[in-house]
Amino acid sequence: MTDKGNEITLVLGLARSGLAALRLLGREGVKVRAADENQDISLPEDLAGIDLRKGKLDISVLDGVSRMVISPGVPVDHPIVRGARETGVRVISELELAYNYVSAPVIAVTGTNGKSTTVSMIGAILEEAGKDVIVAGNVGIPFSSVAGDLGPEGYYVIEVSSFQLEAVDRFRPVCAGILNLTPDHHDRYGNLDDYYDTKKRIYANCRKEDRFFYNHDDSRCRSAAEEFPGTIIPFSSVGRIDRGVFLDGDSLVRILSDGSEEKVMERNDLGVVGLHNVENALSAIAAVECLGISAEACRRALSSFRGLRHRMEKIAEIRGVSFFNDSKATNVEAAVKSLIGLDRPVVLIAGGYNKGDDFSGLLEIVQKVRAVVTLGKAASLIEDVLAGKVETYRSASMEDAVGKAAGIAEEGDMVILSPACASFDMFDDFEHRGDVFAECVNDLKRSKD
Ligand code: ADP
Repeated sequence: MTDKGNEITLVLGLARSGLAALRLLGREGVKVRAADENQDISLPEDLAGIDLRKGKLDISVLDGVSRMVISPGVPVDHPIVRGARETGVRVISELELAYNYVSAPVIAVTGTNGKSTTVSMIGAILEEAGKDVIVAGNVGIPFSSVAGDLGPEGYYVIEVSSFQLEAVDRFRPVCAGILNLTPDHHDRYGNLDDYYDTKKRIYANCRKEDRFFYNHDDSRCRSAAEEFPGTIIPFSSVGRIDRGVFLDGDSLVRILSDGSEEKVMERNDLGVVGLHNVENALSAIAAVECLGISAEACRRALSSFRGLRHRMEKIAEIRGVSFFNDSKATNVEAAVKSLIGLDRPVVLIAGGYNKGDDFSGLLEIVQKVRAVVTLGKAASLIEDVLAGKVETYRSASMEDAVGKAAGIAEEGDMVILSPACASFDMFDDFEHRGDVFAECVNDLKRSKD
């Protein structure tokens, strides 16, 4: 992609990915303009001097612009994005921009839940097998910040959100995967079919020689596989399937391309717990299918993989009660999946910013739960759904929630922050929420010691 004459590339949205896009474009000598609706935003020192428009933006921000890069947080129906499209400005996502500057093959992963864990598992397997690999995207390192860092022999493993897929154009992973498709982001997608269709854009440019791995137990993923033009690799945690990767009793098994069957590892050897993580491990094994990676490398990587922060992360044990931070469970499905395989009573802390989710899914786990401590804007909605099924206690702050949960829990119980909601009503993001939870738990531990 070249910059024609004086034509400007506008970067809209100046959070982590937007700044990475500006740096990439700067390095490539492209003339840029930066814009963000936040009046208080400022550019870091290394980007000082860039034409910056902030606060209320009008269409004049597009003057001289031939291409616009939008950050994941910017909706595609934003008036400036619509204005750009109407006037012939090419609109691309930060993912698409980065893709234009890479020569190594891309393995891309999307789905409603499990993306960060899965890309990290894939990265661990490839590393164990001695490959050069970079894990990036929504997992915290913008793709633009590492584009060009790998030679053609390496692999990029990229976590892709549906927001990024809204504006892709030539993005073509050699291997794409969809982990699951359940309702999420009602606030952004009026119609769930639009959300599912956006996820399928991950393979919009794939061809016959490319691969698609998908959850065979999820009917929406199965129908996405029917439209894929290349090799499909299913995975299943329910039972045997005639190709791909599956859980057979307690064994993770794969079928190789010559049709032979190979046991990769036992479920108990995984370094992480929960059925959802078995699914993530199966999908990671499916993703490296066809790359000639040994079962032994998969086993070594997945048995030493200890999971990511804020995903069922053990914080402390206080008088026989274990406290877990699962702040990343930002929707009902994720919270349910985290709790479903547990064999100890749980005091659940849930609630936060409501994205329009239907909380009745939480009824699935009431048998596991001793009580629910509710928090944030969605507190009363959750209480209404659970009324008569399980005790609920309203809390006013995270400190209050942790104190209440600790008071209710009995020896041997687990206290889990698995909010089933986004965090924006009380915190900057899910990491901030998880950090505050951990702080409150550690304060409580100190006060009891
Ligand atoms: P994502 O990047 O898609 O948000 P993560 O790997 O960060 O997913 O996991 C976030 C939360 O989603 C976890 O804390 C867990 O509660 C839940 N989760 C993880 N993997 C799965 C899965 N395969 N299916 C359903 N829920 C999952």
